[in-house]
Amino acid sequence: MHRWQVRPSGTEGYRTAEVTLGGLDTRHLSSRTMALNDQPNLYFIGEVVDVTGHLGGHNFQWAWASGHAAGEVA
Ligand SMILES: Cc1cc2nc3c(=O)[nH]c(=O)nc-3n(C[C@H](O)[C@H](O)[C@H](O)COP(=O)(O)OP(=O)(O)OC[C@H]3O[C@@H](n4cnc5c(N)ncnc54)[C@H](O)[C@@H]3O)c2cc1C
Repeated sequence: MHRWQVRPSGTEGYRTAEVTLGGLDTRHLSSRTMALNDQPNLYFIGEVVDVTGHLGGHNFQWAWASGHAAGEVA
C-alpha cells in the first residue's frame, strides 16, 4: 500500500478552477498593512496576491483577513 502511487490523468481546467495565485509577489507587500513596500498608499489583498490555501474556506479567510488588515490601516 505504501508504495502505491496515484497519478492524476489531468485537471478539469478552468471549468472548476477555484483559486488562481493572482500574480502579486508577497515580497513586495507589508504583511501587516498589505500596502506596497515602496508605495505605502496602494494596497493589495485577496486573490490578486500570490497566496493560496487548501480548499475548504482558507481562500475566503485570506481574502477577508487581508482586506480587514488593509481596511484598518487605510
Ligand atoms: C467556483 C469557485 C469556488 C470557490 N470555492 C471556495 C471555497 O469553497 N472556499 C474558499 O475559501 N474559497 C473558494 N473559492 C475561492 C474564493 O472565492 C476566492 O479566493 C475569493 O473570493 C477571492 O476574493 P477576492 O475579494 O480577492 O476576489 P473576488 O471575489 O474575485 O473579487 C474581485 C471583485 O473585483 C471585481 N472587479 C474586477 N475587475 C474590476 C474592475 N476593473 N473594476 C471594479 N471591480 C472589478 C470583480 O467583479 C469582483 O467582484 C472559490 C472560487 C471559485 C471560482
